[in-house]
Amino acid sequence: STGSEPSTPEDNINVVVRVRPLNEKEKRDRYGMILQFPGNGQIIIESSERNNKKSRNQENVHVFTYNVVFEPGATQEDILDYSGIKRIIDMAIEGFSCTAFCYGQTGSGKTHTLTGPPDLFHGKPNLKDPRHGLIFRSFLYLFQLIKNRKDVNYVLKASFLEIYNERVIDLLNPGSARKPLAVRWSKKSRGFFVENLFTVDCEELDDLLAVLEEGMRNRAVGSHAMNDHSSRSHTMLTVHIISEQQTDGGVFISKHGKINFVDLAGSELTKKTLSEGKTLEEANNINKSLMVLGYCIASLSDGKKRFGHIPYRDSQLTKLLADSLAGNGVTLMIACVSPAQYNHAETLNTLRYASRAK
Ligand code: ADP
Ligand code: MG
Repeated sequence: STGSEPSTPEDNINVVVRVRPLNEKEKRDRYGMILQFPGNGQIIIESSERNNKKSRNQENVHVFTYNVVFEPGATQEDILDYSGIKRIIDMAIEGFSCTAFCYGQTGSGKTHTLTGPPDLFHGKPNLKDPRHGLIFRSFLYLFQLIKNRKDVNYVLKASFLEIYNERVIDLLNPGSARKPLAVRWSKKSRGFFVENLFTVDCEELDDLLAVLEEGMRNRAVGSHAMNDHSSRSHTMLTVHIISEQQTDGGVFISKHGKINFVDLAGSELTKKTLSEGKTLEEANNINKSLMVLGYCIASLSDGKKRFGHIPYRDSQLTKLLADSLAGNGVTLMIACVSPAQYNHAETLNTLRYASRAK
């Protein structure tokens, strides 16, 4: 073997990393920063043992390379402009199935990156607020694109769900928490779908924003809410983009693209499972979806395995993401990490996971 496979032009998973700033408490407690940013999409992570003489040796320092690295000073607008999400939205409009997901340990900035702080959704939103996350900014970009295409007729529909313990709950219909929804295969569209999921027609930007706001609110106040709930569940907001265009020859062309925005459960959950020596079946109750997603991405990124069997059917999340992970789909992974010394183990895990996905 010659080692790593050359990357192919059909690579359809792009990986960026976002490093959050130290928070006030971490600054007060004088936690060191373990990451350096030499440029060119690289991150250097120091040894976990600072005072160890060996830590100056090269073997105790890891260097990883990604498509883009967002340093702690990066703004929410930077993520929209430089993560590659705009290209993904362009493709969703053209009929592709697309996903943007945030991966990382609890507290690493996944929800901040996708939605921003929760109080943004109290009262009327200020479109210019610099704290707005990637979902909000993507909606603005999407509507801008659609307005500029007078020759195409677009219909947008949106849904918002949560996966907790392999149970699918409709965040636009909180009553579904008592009776989880089924994920089924559609022969007609050759894809998986969630049966009876609320899907809201969105004619205006405000309709999409209302979906985001309503889902966020239901997630926060659900009867199932508990302390660790948000770190153990995945949320997925999907925008379907159906377009119809008449060619010069009078033929109608219709396309159905979509984009999923996924806020994953904390990545620390998979490690816990594995260290307890559990198999995938036994891990069911901890976080099957997160683990299976890892297997699928690792297989898809392996030049030899990508055309073999990919276990999409093994979890609810991967069934729903299958079309954007495989074939004609496009996926953006935003790996979120903390730069603080005490998070070393989880940060290294996330950086490894993210570099394998490339
Ligand atoms: P996660 O969803 O991964 O558990 P959060 O997004 O809730 O993490 O982030 C944890 C805390 O850190 C929150 O208080 C959040 O506001 C803050 N935070 C995360 N990323 C940033 C950032 N880039 N800039 C400022 N604050 C951030
Ligand atoms: Mg979160």
